[in-house]
Amino acid sequence: MLNIVLFGKPGSGKGTQANFLKDKYNLVHISTGDVFRKNIKNQTELGLKAEAYTQNGELVPDDVTVLMLENEIKQNLPCKGFIFDGFPRTLYQADEMNKILFKYKMKLSAIVALDVDDDLLTDRLLKRGLISGRSDDQSREKILTRLNEYRNKTEPLIEYYSKINRFHSVSGVGEIHEISLRLLDLVESVK
Ligand code: AMP
Repeated sequence: MLNIVLFGKPGSGKGTQANFLKDKYNLVHISTGDVFRKNIKNQTELGLKAEAYTQNGELVPDDVTVLMLENEIKQNLPCKGFIFDGFPRTLYQADEMNKILFKYKMKLSAIVALDVDDDLLTDRLLKRGLISGRSDDQSREKILTRLNEYRNKTEPLIEYYSKINRFHSVSGVGEIHEISLRLLDLVESVK
């Protein structure tokens, strides 16, 4: 199996690149943000739990998110592999993910962060907000909350994964296809 974790700040292009890798390697793409948005739209129990957090740009509590992730994995097995887009985002989630992977006899092939600086991201997100209609893309304040959540809760994962030598950082600046090629090189080297 080829299992890739793709993380990066909001607006770093995770979704676009995850889609590219999914098509290229025939993987199942699990975007936790998309799963939350779908559930919020359908007002499911999960959606109701997640709604206030996602709308404010805060992370959804770990217990809710971890349960959701395990369900998504279970529903899609067997498969050639997964691309995890936006999970894990906290150290607790990373620990829980290890337990889930062990349970289903899976291993991570690579953890990749798309690297883009904050000023560029704020501009990208405000522009995306005009098209996506996503409420968390609409205001500088919410974008700032999301960037702070990333810095405080998600960035520690870089050290966590660097210790097991599975961590890679790829520049997320440039044309979409250039970034895809960088990712492709990396995935080919870990496959
Ligand atoms: P994204 O589409 O990845 O930018 O995620 C949108 C929103 O969904 C985030 O701002 C969080 O509110 C929520 N979310 C997505 N993934 C996670 C996660 N792994 N842990 C907690 N909340 C998450």
